[in-house]
Amino acid sequence: MSSPSTSVSRSTFDEVMVPNYVPGAIVPVRGQGSRIWDQDDKEYIDFACGIAVTVLGHCHPKLVAALTEQGNKLWHLSNVVTNEPALRLASKLTEKTFAERVFFANSGGEANEAAFKLARRYGNTRAEGKNEIISFHNAFHGRTLFTVSVGGQAKYTQGFEPIPGGITHLPFNDVAALEAAISDKTCAVVMEPLQGEGGILPATAEFARAARELCNKHDALLVYDEVQTGMGRTGELYAYMGLGVTPDILTTAKGLGGGFPIGAMLTTKAIADYLPFGTHGSTYGGNPLGCAVAEAVLDTVSDPAVLEGVQVRAEKIRARLDAIGERYGVFGPTRGLGLLIGAPMSEAWKGRAKEIVNAGWKHGVWCLVAGPDVLRIAPSLIIPEAELELGLERLEAAVAELCA
Ligand SMILES: *Cc1c(COP(=O)(O)O)cnc(C)c1O
Repeated sequence: MSSPSTSVSRSTFDEVMVPNYVPGAIVPVRGQGSRIWDQDDKEYIDFACGIAVTVLGHCHPKLVAALTEQGNKLWHLSNVVTNEPALRLASKLTEKTFAERVFFANSGGEANEAAFKLARRYGNTRAEGKNEIISFHNAFHGRTLFTVSVGGQAKYTQGFEPIPGGITHLPFNDVAALEAAISDKTCAVVMEPLQGEGGILPATAEFARAARELCNKHDALLVYDEVQTGMGRTGELYAYMGLGVTPDILTTAKGLGGGFPIGAMLTTKAIADYLPFGTHGSTYGGNPLGCAVAEAVLDTVSDPAVLEGVQVRAEKIRARLDAIGERYGVFGPTRGLGLLIGAPMSEAWKGRAKEIVNAGWKHGVWCLVAGPDVLRIAPSLIIPEAELELGLERLEAAVAELCA
């Protein structure tokens, strides 16, 4: 297929874009399922999904239908009036989760911003000075000033000072540290059920339970950032369901729109009442176009067959990755949940995960890193067997070439 867009290329990026990204060498122009093609019509197997976003692959017929149908009806109203897709999506999200109330945003960072503001307002309303937030080292919650501040990676706040205060960072999965730090001044404990950007590190069941109990004891809200782990990614609709711990607030984005930008904050009615009329808002949040697409994603991902398929695929990928890691000595045993898989680099390969990603591009497979030391694989939840096998073969060829 000839590309009409060849007048722009990767080098255009450096001439017209702010240099906060360094994109890969090729420019993809179309996708179908778990395959994408670049300007030269070279094909790649997609093991990345953007960054764990396109849970149903590219151009899924149900999503294209939802987008085009809504696109021909109504795109935007603002929140001065409500709309049917938002009401339907919120109804389904509350039916399928612990939540009773929904706030729509346009991204994960915005959903978290709403969650953290709600937690602050909850605490400040209930007791003087109850506004401290506890979060964890290596956590990632977005790129707004509040969300980088709650996030646990100093490199994302450096140079942006002064940053919001009242935030304490603790080691992840350390029950004793949490027990020592939490108090009646704490308004929220914020965690990812599995740290994604931080290196594909799952919370232990013990830690998850302890965080829940300590929040109960101190009247603090337990906030689960499920921006990356949500929408079937771990094999459950939301990862909290597999942990047996229910948060007070949950944020969801990435997979929610299957590639269309949308985010949401879910909570109970009692907590939602702390954000009354006028306290928070968004122009585009809950727009009919995004909500129509997300409704189609939610309907499709909720199918038990899709969720069961996640485990089957995950086992295949992990067995093969473990074998590759062992054979070439590049990475150690894989970890993660469902189709959010991390392969930690071996001693000899410390800091070199990106080299494997780059070799993958060359061999026609798109993978990700999660920090410098972890190769991350996050394919579509419905990636067909043939694409999965082909992607793994290409990844092995890439590793083999690097090690030759
Ligand atoms: C990606 C991510 C975010 C930020 O989402 P954006 O849509 O980029 O704002 C927040 N939290 C987690 C856990 C994420 O993985």
